[in-house]
Amino acid sequence: MGDYHVHLHPHGPYRGVGPEPGDYPASHLEAYVEAAAARGASEIAFTEHLYRCVEAEAALGPFWETEPRRDLADQTRTFVDEDRVLSLDRYVEAVVAAKDRGLPVLLGLEVDFFPDTIDAVLDLLAPYPWDVLIGSVHWVGGWSIDHADVAWEFERRGVRRAYEDYFTVEAQLAASGAVDVLAHVDVVKKHGHRLPEPPVDLYGPVVDGAARSGTAVEVSTAGLRVPAAEIYPEPTLLGMFHEAGVPITFASDAHMPADAARDRNRAVELARRVGYTDRAAFRQRRRTQVPIDEEEVR
Ligand SMILES: [Zn+2]
Ligand SMILES: [Zn+2]
Repeated sequence: MGDYHVHLHPHGPYRGVGPEPGDYPASHLEAYVEAAAARGASEIAFTEHLYRCVEAEAALGPFWETEPRRDLADQTRTFVDEDRVLSLDRYVEAVVAAKDRGLPVLLGLEVDFFPDTIDAVLDLLAPYPWDVLIGSVHWVGGWSIDHADVAWEFERRGVRRAYEDYFTVEAQLAASGAVDVLAHVDVVKKHGHRLPEPPVDLYGPVVDGAARSGTAVEVSTAGLRVPAAEIYPEPTLLGMFHEAGVPITFASDAHMPADAARDRNRAVELARRVGYTDRAAFRQRRRTQVPIDEEEVR
């Protein structure tokens, strides 16, 4: 069983933890593989953030500039500027070299979805030998929806409206077929902003879009490590994906080796509870289905 969502560097300014951004010693990649293996995960897809790579600047453009709320746009511009310190080419080289050495790793990428620039992004990514692309909505317009520094926007906008705005973009991503897997599909709950009932009316278009475009969804334990304290997606939404025949992957969204495959047993338990018996595996962006093997869960 795999962990299909793993980053090689933490966000923000370098604080001396792990190698410097853009540095990929072999031992660092191996540390992720070892941590995941200790939890029974036999392969890792590294999925660095596209927006953090300098090569993404032209394709993504200054996407915050369309944001009418100046405070949100300013936070995003500053954050992206600070976080964009990686090279896509060097990242790909490092993961491909690890694959060539026989490590059980896959070349993936976490692709930021903006309806207006996704075609340019796919053009940028076309020459690289990806095994899997996962897709994320981290920004709604210029609002960094999962960033704690601007979580006050939920109050200003209203929680229901924030959910509507988020799931409108997520549904476009799901329907686009641009990526292989939807990442943290209900990340809008990250900071603990909740609606009284699961918003199934907003979930519907996301689930339908994924089913029609043949896009899988990840079961991510990252939600357990934030105020939401709940796996992405929540049980009602994961049940809807299962109903619609949408495949799953398992994900930790680790940004350091210690988090690789973290809480994986809880993700497997949830997936089984809503009816899944297998998960998706990817090679060169081709999907196969693998049984969720009981004895692999530790
Ligand atoms: Zn993400
Ligand atoms: Zn991630």
